Amino acid sequence: ADGDAADTLFEKIIAGEIPADVVYQDASTFAFRDIRPQAKVHVLVVPKTRYRNVGELAAADPQLLSEVVATARKVAELEGIVESGYRVVFNTDSDAGQTVFHVHAHVLGGEPLGLFGA
Ligand code: 5GP
Repeated sequence: ADGDAADTLFEKIIAGEIPADVVYQDASTFAFRDIRPQAKVHVLVVPKTRYRNVGELAAADPQLLSEVVATARKVAELEGIVESGYRVVFNTDSDAGQTVFHVHAHVLGGEPLGLFGA
């Protein structure tokens, strides 16, 4: 875990210090709606323990990465988009536009999604 650096926004959301529209949580993961949705369904899934990005999470705790992906699937079930389909995205560092350095999966769906690109 990246415990030495200053807290990010998402630690404050997990702690309930900043309000969020919580969709699901369990012992190790937390899911809440993105404040600027890019699709009809746009939920962020984070591990409660902070890692900077998905690569660091994968290297340090692959079980926890698996739990994040399982929670993304759970969110899709709760949102009713398993059949219609959805996208799971981990933006990583500058060119991908990562702005919060607490790893998070974007779960996007509820409508046809555009192609990847800028
Ligand atoms: P990134 O660009 O790092 O992959 O994604 C960060 C996401 O966090 C963005 O989609 C942004 O809209 C979302 N976000 C930023 N601030 C807040 C906030 O205060 N609350 C919520 N729910 N989402 C936020």
